[in-house]
Amino acid sequence: MKHEALFYNSEDDKKVSCYLCPHRCVIADGKLGYCGVRKNIDGKLYSMIYGRISSACADAIEKKPLYHFHPGSYTFSIGSLGCNMRCKHCQNWQIAHSRADNGDRDTSYISPEELVNLSLENKCSGISWTYNEPTIWIEYAIDGARLAKENGQYTVFVTNGYIEPEALDAIGPYLDAYRVDIKGFDNYREDDVPETDIKVSEELQDSRHCFYRDVANVKSVRPILDAAIRAKSKWDMHVEIITNVVPGYNDDNEELHEIAGWIVQNLGDETPWHISRFQPYLDLSHVPSTPISTLETARKIGVEEGLKYVYTGNVPGHKWENTYCHSCGEMLIERVGFGVKTFEIKDGMCTKCGTSIPIVGGFG
Ligand code: SF4
Repeated sequence: MKHEALFYNSEDDKKVSCYLCPHRCVIADGKLGYCGVRKNIDGKLYSMIYGRISSACADAIEKKPLYHFHPGSYTFSIGSLGCNMRCKHCQNWQIAHSRADNGDRDTSYISPEELVNLSLENKCSGISWTYNEPTIWIEYAIDGARLAKENGQYTVFVTNGYIEPEALDAIGPYLDAYRVDIKGFDNYREDDVPETDIKVSEELQDSRHCFYRDVANVKSVRPILDAAIRAKSKWDMHVEIITNVVPGYNDDNEELHEIAGWIVQNLGDETPWHISRFQPYLDLSHVPSTPISTLETARKIGVEEGLKYVYTGNVPGHKWENTYCHSCGEMLIERVGFGVKTFEIKDGMCTKCGTSIPIVGGFG
């Protein structure tokens, strides 16, 4: 459904400028923005995907992945079309790389009211905007999230984090959890940050891929980091970070140290960090799967930097998919696939030693 967009300015010659995400597209009359779903029609910008659902499913919250947020609950998960990144290995490319003017994509309109009813009917505890980038259909996300909150449901963004502050502030009052990718850290050093923030040698810097530029086709990680801080500090969202470790692209130990160190310093040492296994796909089909040993090294790096909860992902049955008390080491949440097998946290504390464990919401 067509819906006038938020976050745009009118320009000369019937052009519009969109400031929903850091691409800040200037769009001529009749054209779509980079995300492929926001269209200039006669000098006004429209979302072409308001309520246009390409995928909907009741998922375990662990599948997002969110491990410290309503564990064991189900979340009504929806996606639409388009994305403001073009990741070469996107698992959801059929919808994410699709444009709103592609007539061959199956979508159905679901109003915000129907969305909330569907979540309740499917016995879900909340709604997740996932599968494609939530930011690019923010008009629908705001309306749906507001209604979800009024009906006692939680709300989740599974996001690449490429959003401008004004837009984050608009959804902020209605969003409970923010699961964001930090795909790499290289471009952070190339921004206008003070020299003191640059930790690695120039030689190493030169030898690296710039993940965001080379793989996701965006300029910098900087707006993503700023938005993650804003989500937590201004809007008190529960934040979990994921890094999909791609061999040869972002598996450098020093880069992983930087990501983990940044999380500790800016989001806190209780922020869960998921290090997930890359599987060859799409334009990165030639790249091998991430060795398990690399993920284990990355986990060790996260712990060395001070993170208390570092998880491996996409390795079913691995012991680092479970939650352990950071104080006594007791296994507190045992996960099997996306299910929770045991849950040994009571009143927010380790049942063995009484240490406080940061989990939002109860079990189930
Ligand atoms: S949301 Fe879409 S149209 Fe707007 S700036 Fe980002 S890519 Fe461009």
